[in-house]
Amino acid sequence: MADHPRFGPAGVPPLFRVLGARLPDVPRLLREENLDAFEYQAVRWGQKPQMKREDAESLGAEARKNDVLISMHGSYYVNLCGKEEVVEASKKRLVACATAANWMGAYVVVFHTGFYGRLEKSYAFRTCVNALKDTVATMNSLGIRNVKLGPETMGKVFQVGSLDEILMICEEVEQTQLVIDWSHMHARHQGRFRKVEDFRAVAEEVERRLGTEAVRNMHCHFSKIEYTANGERRHHILDEPGYGPEFEMLAEVIAEFKMRPVIICETPLLDVDAVKMRGTYLKIVESQRASAS
Ligand SMILES: [Zn+2]
Repeated sequence: MADHPRFGPAGVPPLFRVLGARLPDVPRLLREENLDAFEYQAVRWGQKPQMKREDAESLGAEARKNDVLISMHGSYYVNLCGKEEVVEASKKRLVACATAANWMGAYVVVFHTGFYGRLEKSYAFRTCVNALKDTVATMNSLGIRNVKLGPETMGKVFQVGSLDEILMICEEVEQTQLVIDWSHMHARHQGRFRKVEDFRAVAEEVERRLGTEAVRNMHCHFSKIEYTANGERRHHILDEPGYGPEFEMLAEVIAEFKMRPVIICETPLLDVDAVKMRGTYLKIVESQRASAS
């Protein structure tokens, strides 16, 4: 959990790879850019951790040394409301991710809950909640208690993951962490975030449903986004005109609610745009301070 707003990239920035950086070098390189969060991408993982325990542990040790908070994006191959064999395999994939997250000291495994498919929405949702409760029970039986599961608000209308559904999961399932992907919500609802009030309304809803600590500690994804009638289409960089949402508006709400979220940048520019978001946030805090004094 963050002690102040933290910013970082979704995955290893391409330039780091060009520089020949190894995974344990990433926290130090982020720190040099004044970034302090990193979301490790385990997005293609199967039913076993696809990294060595020692590699995960050395990433974790370097992250602690450089004060970089680690999270993990879990496998894309998860659907908790599919056929029974799909659900069983999905639970194993989540446990594999949680196992490696535990090795590296990642505080949350972010994941996509699933697809409604032919199921009636509320039935699909129930199936997901039950599968998640099983997954948490398995994690606990393996001694994994410091890693939370983070269901994410999703950008396509046929995916489980409206704000209401994600809040309900967090209300019902232990050891979960709210993950707000602002861009996904923007795309799912055809451009939901147009004014500061639109962001504030979400923060207020989270506070009402999950409490003040939950709104202060949300885990966030942010990018500019392009969408169609079905929702999310493509991520865009912050400076690209013509696409929303605008980070400045979210930054105002972060300052207003004294939030200390982890903000993971998912634009194609990753760390470069994460640095930009941090700068925007600091400028807004500074101007609010100046107008208060
Ligand atoms: Zn995601």
